[in-house]
Amino acid sequence: MMEGRIFNFSAGPSMLADEVLLKIKDELLNYQGSGMSVLEMSHRSKVYDDIIVAAEAKFRSVMNIPDNYKVLFLQGGATGMFAAIAQNLGVKGAADYVISGNFSGNAYKEGAKYLKDARVAATTKDENFSRVPTQEELKLNPDADYVHICFNNTIFGTKFPYIPETGDVPLVADLSSCILSEPVDVSKFGIIYAGAQKNIAPAGLSIVIIRDDLLGKAAPTTPNVWDFTKQADKGSMLNTPPTFQIYVCKLVLEWIESLGGLEAMKKRNEEKAAILYNYLDNNDFYKAAADKNSRSMMNVTFRTGNDELDAKFVKESIAAGMSNLKGHRLVGGMRASIYNAMPKEGVETLVAFMKKFAEENA
Ligand SMILES: *Cc1c(COP(=O)(O)O)cnc(C)c1O
Repeated sequence: MMEGRIFNFSAGPSMLADEVLLKIKDELLNYQGSGMSVLEMSHRSKVYDDIIVAAEAKFRSVMNIPDNYKVLFLQGGATGMFAAIAQNLGVKGAADYVISGNFSGNAYKEGAKYLKDARVAATTKDENFSRVPTQEELKLNPDADYVHICFNNTIFGTKFPYIPETGDVPLVADLSSCILSEPVDVSKFGIIYAGAQKNIAPAGLSIVIIRDDLLGKAAPTTPNVWDFTKQADKGSMLNTPPTFQIYVCKLVLEWIESLGGLEAMKKRNEEKAAILYNYLDNNDFYKAAADKNSRSMMNVTFRTGNDELDAKFVKESIAAGMSNLKGHRLVGGMRASIYNAMPKEGVETLVAFMKKFAEENA
């Protein structure tokens, strides 16, 4: 990483790779001889069209998205999609929500505004979301319009170790905090969606990957900008899309490609997460907050068991060149978000600091 840049463990918006930031800097004032910045460009211009077309093509190739899926570039964050999904898919008004953390709970509450029969198919709230429900625990309604899950729980540091089997009912998944971290079998999902600001691009862009047969079902009251069918028909340009974010998304995908694609990302991410979890599992000073079989590779939650020591840890970590290690208020303790752009050295620096802190405060 470049001199002066800090290891930023923020859960989102989060780090972008130096290579991507430098490329943005290079192209910022005069994009490829166009005489203008991407920030200033008409979304209807030829030069911009090439950017959005390339961004979609790269999304498809990097994620290996089958041809019978559309890729949409929308606004409103993942939270906007909580409503949009219910509006676009809720034909019968029935949906099952698996509640495995804060965001899946929010998705349920937001979806329920537009549905007659929003159900909780399973929840691990009683265990403070330290794990995700198992397939056996899911009480699924075979007549539901869809089943909703949050694949990686950003706040609690858990992830589904399996893709739920939902029969003929489409599976809709929030992948905001794990998309592009490893290969995923898109064909197992009806919709995959994500806010960009964790692993894709700056805040302001939402990605929706939707299977063709789920189009054409939106309620007439659905806002046009969140009508997946209308947006698909217009190539995500029913109105002005988040142009700069889509450009950065393209650069991030190129960066991932240059490193070897999602198999290589997975290997890197597994290595990083293992450094942290191995340390957590082999000392008595810190405890991992998430159950072993539900652990996230992107968000690692841990604590000392003493609130004052946790606060001291966070304070001293800043002086040691790291930022945003404070856990979410719902979990307490610490959280290290180690998305794609966090280099291995960042995790090694963190573990070295953890060892030193444990020695000084045991
Ligand atoms: C961050 C996050 C959200 C919220 O995203 P916004 O873009 O702020 O609406 C939803 N779901 C998950 C899994 C997240 O990590």
